Amino acid sequence: MKISTILLLMSVVPAFAQNAEVSKKADALKDQVITWRRDFHEHPELGNHEVRTSAIIAKHLQSLGIEVQTGIATTGVVGILKGGKPGPVVALRADMDGLPVTERTPVPFASKVRSTYNGQEVGVMHACGHDTHMAILMGVAQVLSSMKSELHGTVKFIFQPAEEGVEPGQKGGAEEMVKQGVLENPKVDVIFGLHINSQTEVGKIGYRPGGTMAGVDDMQIIVKGRSAHGAYPWSSVDPIVVSAEIINSLQTIVSRNINVTENPAVVTIGAINGGNRSNIIPEKVEMLGTLRSLTPADEKQLVYRVTQIATKTAEALGATAEVKIPYSNHYPVTFNDLELTRKMLPTLQKTAGTENVLLRPPVTGAEDFSFYQEKVPGLFFFLGGMPKGEDPLKAPSHHTPDFFIDESGFTLGVKTLCNLTLDYMAGKSL
Ligand SMILES: [Zn+2]
Ligand SMILES: [Zn+2]
Repeated sequence: MKISTILLLMSVVPAFAQNAEVSKKADALKDQVITWRRDFHEHPELGNHEVRTSAIIAKHLQSLGIEVQTGIATTGVVGILKGGKPGPVVALRADMDGLPVTERTPVPFASKVRSTYNGQEVGVMHACGHDTHMAILMGVAQVLSSMKSELHGTVKFIFQPAEEGVEPGQKGGAEEMVKQGVLENPKVDVIFGLHINSQTEVGKIGYRPGGTMAGVDDMQIIVKGRSAHGAYPWSSVDPIVVSAEIINSLQTIVSRNINVTENPAVVTIGAINGGNRSNIIPEKVEMLGTLRSLTPADEKQLVYRVTQIATKTAEALGATAEVKIPYSNHYPVTFNDLELTRKMLPTLQKTAGTENVLLRPPVTGAEDFSFYQEKVPGLFFFLGGMPKGEDPLKAPSHHTPDFFIDESGFTLGVKTLCNLTLDYMAGKSL
């Protein structure tokens, strides 16, 4: 037998034994994880205001003997668990924020919290399931800290605020966590994260190599022409007609410039404002829109073509167009590293059962986990939270007052994040 084979066997066998230990410990924590989740659910806090939430997390991590840093990017909490053996640094991430949604579910732990958002009084609800992410990661911290001496490396637990975005003028979320150095000291080698899904059955895991959730750029286009009386259009340069031409031509980007057999893309104009009377041709029109893409190359292509079409169309018609992309927000593509996904797929399969791991289509919504993946290889996957047998088309979607999660899937989340960590470490310690 070759030495490399012996070494391989020596490190694989303990990994299997560790996975069995994880399974036992995660099962024993089932009720505790649900209790944490219900408490978070009943007391949701909006992005950058997760004060109570982060205090509970910090206290729990400290009680496990994990080194804790607080106040990162406003309310972020990071726990560092140094294993007994040398090895890579694996980061695991959960998000902490609720949404300005008024809960309508009949559960006894439904939120009655009210707050203000953007100057309006609103109900607050964990309507995206970030309460489940925190509870699961607290469970993972408990399991892995109990195995500290056998760990081949370091685990960084990242609890971040404001995944859903912040109020205008504020900073926050993963982008700010990265800026404040959360991936350094110790330097993170790889990051894993999950999102519960209200339309995927409990017990299932959804994943996708490469572009998983869309990169987003919002845009502003200002078309300037020359104002005139509506009865004498020949003395105007009509920005409304120019804008109409631009909007129609933008539709050719997806149909003619993107290889639709590879990845989808979206170009949407969501607002158009110009003029105030039937008989006045205005001087300018403002358009707002959003671009969605699944690869950095497509993102570049969308930005280039929108800019070209808007400015050149305006020029051809005697007007000017100013294009700002991104206008106020930008999310990179949530891109699962191809090599890492290939390597970790067997872990997903052995934890959930091969038949329960589903390759899913890309999502044109966005996720700020992408800011970590811009810096280090990462894998982001979806965990089933829909009651068995329900119709996914009828299950209430995320961000709605009836959003509902079946809690029986949490233990699979705990096991999967633990096993990804241990198996990655085992692979790296070969
Ligand atoms: Zn959300
Ligand atoms: Zn979310």
